[in-house]
Amino acid sequence: MSRIWVLGAGQLGQMLKHAGMPLNLDVRPVDIESEDTFPLQAHEKVTAEREQWPETAATRQLAAHPAFVNLNTFPILADRYTQKSLIDKLGLATAPWQLVETDTSAESLHEALGERVLLKRRTGGYDGRGQHWLREPGRDAIPDDWHTQAIAEQAIDFDEEASIVGMRGEDGQCYFYPLTLNLHVDGILLGSVSPLARLAHLQDEAERMLTTLMNDLDYVGVMAMECFRVGDHLLINELAPRVHNSGHWTQAGANISQFEAHLRAVVGLPLIAPSVKNTSVMVNLVGTERNDDWLSVPGAELYWYGKEVRPGRKVGHINFCLSNPSDTQAALDKLEPMLPASYGIVLDWLRSQLN
Ligand code: ATP
Ligand code: MG
Ligand code: MG
Repeated sequence: MSRIWVLGAGQLGQMLKHAGMPLNLDVRPVDIESEDTFPLQAHEKVTAEREQWPETAATRQLAAHPAFVNLNTFPILADRYTQKSLIDKLGLATAPWQLVETDTSAESLHEALGERVLLKRRTGGYDGRGQHWLREPGRDAIPDDWHTQAIAEQAIDFDEEASIVGMRGEDGQCYFYPLTLNLHVDGILLGSVSPLARLAHLQDEAERMLTTLMNDLDYVGVMAMECFRVGDHLLINELAPRVHNSGHWTQAGANISQFEAHLRAVVGLPLIAPSVKNTSVMVNLVGTERNDDWLSVPGAELYWYGKEVRPGRKVGHINFCLSNPSDTQAALDKLEPMLPASYGIVLDWLRSQLN
């Protein structure tokens, strides 16, 4: 049995483990805070479910392992400065940006990037944490400790947000899932739908961009690219060198989930173009208590992460992949009263995409 070590034991690590079972792959998520050491064998592959980690006995041991797949990619993509520099170097479209240097002033950022400027911490941000808006030229200031630690981006007046999850094998062959349409509220992903016929004309552009990036990095495994759709074009928002929340629908909607695809790539098993079933939707469960009634909704596939529930924390998701959009609509109708009222926006948005 092949054993694969995963740096990180959050929900992504757990779902990788789950996906390894049918293939008899022994996936071992490792808690990044652990001060233990682990019995890694020289031939066993190491992968990660996150792009950054603290220095602990566990992470030092895993990161020093010669078979850590994509080890060099993590520092490049974990820092928005090097990530955006890479996107620019490859000539790919992204929101105009610059580094916030020691002597950068808010005025100079507005002059270069426009009225609305979004500061993003270079490292450690997720779910919209680590962001700071400068919206009122002359009034809003750059926080003191953000100099050299942040980039500044032009606000993009996008039509909507989409992402693509792709995979690349050791032989350089790339495959992709169809574009996913995503709803983010206050920086947190709340819902996804894929595939959508009306996005199909953007698929080639998305695949070209992500292929260029994965080839340049000589990347092996699953990578996600978050984009803004502006008219008929995509701008890259950010990249994740791992399985991604916007690809969770593939657990229900494709013959190979993103988790299995990543494992296959990492251990050198065959990759193929995933065969996608019907249009899937995913509802993220954020800061909400578990409700077993969700399981009574036709078609609902619940993943509950078993984490302590805290406001704004991702604690689970529900996938649907029904053969008929009207069945999905009916399922979402049934789900609605079982969720806090704040989910109305998400369910309305999902239903509107299925019309
Ligand atoms: P994630 O949890 O996806 O890793 P994150 O905290 O790394 O999120 P981003 O993806 O960079 O942050 O931004 C979060 C959200 O903020 C985006 O999905 C989008 O809704 C909004 N956003 C980010 N950059 C811009 C921009 N330049 N203009 C307008 N909105 C933006
Ligand atoms: Mg991010
Ligand atoms: Mg993001």
